[in-house]
Amino acid sequence: MTNKPWQDKLIDIEPYVAGEQPQSADIIKLNANENPYPPSPSAAAAIREFDGNTLKKYPPIKPTELRNAVAEHYALDSSCVFSGNGSDDVLAAAFRAFFNSDMPILFPDITYSFYPVWCSLMKIPYKVLPVDENFEINIEDYAQPNGGVVIPNPNAPTAIGFGEEKIRRLLDLNRDCIVIIDEAYADFSGYSCVGLIKEYDNLVVTQTFSKSRSLAGMRVAAAMADPYLISYLDAVKDSYNSYPLDSIAVKAGTAAVRDEEYFRIVTDKIIATRQRVSEEMKELGFILTDSRTNFIFARHVSLSAKEIFEYLKSKGVYVRHFDLPRIDNYLRITIGTDEDMDTMLALLRSMPGILQG
Ligand SMILES: *Cc1c(COP(=O)(O)O)cnc(C)c1O
Repeated sequence: MTNKPWQDKLIDIEPYVAGEQPQSADIIKLNANENPYPPSPSAAAAIREFDGNTLKKYPPIKPTELRNAVAEHYALDSSCVFSGNGSDDVLAAAFRAFFNSDMPILFPDITYSFYPVWCSLMKIPYKVLPVDENFEINIEDYAQPNGGVVIPNPNAPTAIGFGEEKIRRLLDLNRDCIVIIDEAYADFSGYSCVGLIKEYDNLVVTQTFSKSRSLAGMRVAAAMADPYLISYLDAVKDSYNSYPLDSIAVKAGTAAVRDEEYFRIVTDKIIATRQRVSEEMKELGFILTDSRTNFIFARHVSLSAKEIFEYLKSKGVYVRHFDLPRIDNYLRITIGTDEDMDTMLALLRSMPGILQG
C-alpha cells in the first residue's frame, strides 16, 4: 500500500482516553470522579433565570465576575486569577505558556494521563519520575535540571496527597522554572497551596469546578498565580480562543463559588462517605492508599482488579480500571452517594472469593 503524500503530514498522536460515559440512568457511575450531588442550588437558579436573548452578544473577554468570586474565595487580588473551559483547557494553556524549554518537563510516572498527551501534541520534551512502591512522590527526585514541573496534589489516580512542607521543598528546588500544581482534588484534602503564590512567583495552581463544585458538564476552571504569569496565560488563551467561557458558564460558575455553605456541606459529606466506605472495604480484604480525594484507589488481597471490575460492570456499577504498568491490579472508585456506595459494597460482599468482614 502506498501512502498518499499528505499522510506523513498528519499529526502523530495517542489521544487521551476518558472513562466510559454510559448514558443509561439505571447504572451507578463511579468511574469519572464526578460529584454525585447536584451543583449549588444558586448555580442551577442562575442557569434557569438566564436570559437567552442575551446570547446574541459575545461573553465578556475576561469573565471578571467569575475571577473576582474565585479571588474572594482565596483572599487574593483578582489579577492573580485566570479562568478557562475546565482545567484541561487551563492546563493546556499553561503548558503552552510556560513549557518552552529544550529541557524535559518532569512529572510522576503514575499521574494524570493527559500530561503526556499535551506534551506530544505541543512537542514538549518530558521525563517521568517513578513514584515509590507505596506510590509516594519523592520530592528530591525533582532536584534535576528541567524545563518545568507539573504534579497533581493530591495525585491521581493514586489519591495520595502531600502537605506544605513538601510543596515548599519542591518549589525551593525549582526556582528557575515554572511549577504547576494541579489541585483538581485539593478541596477533598483539606490543603491547598494557593497561599504560596504570594511567596513563589514561579508557582501556578490550577483548580477545577468539575469535581468539588459539581459542574463537570459546564467546563469551568481557574488558575492562580502571580499576575505576571496570569498575563501570559491570558496571552496564550487570547491567541487561539479569546472567548473561552460562555455567558451561562460565567453566571453558573460565579454562583457556585459564592455558595460557600453548600460547598462545605457537599465536600464534608463526600469525605465522610469516603472514610466509611474505606473502612468497610478494608474488612472485605481491600488494600487502600490514604485517599485525600473524592475517590478510592484499591487492590484486593486475592481477587484481581480486572475480575472485580468486570463483575461490578455486569451488575451495572462502573468503576475505573487502568490497564497500565504498576497499577493494573488497582481500581479507582469514585465516591458516590451513601446509597450508591452501599449498593457497590453489597455487590462486593456477594462476590465469590471476597473476605467476609
Ligand atoms: C479531572 C481532572 C482534571 C480536569 O478536569 P476538568 O474537568 O477538565 O476541569 C485535571 N487534572 C486532574 C488531575 C484531574 O483529575
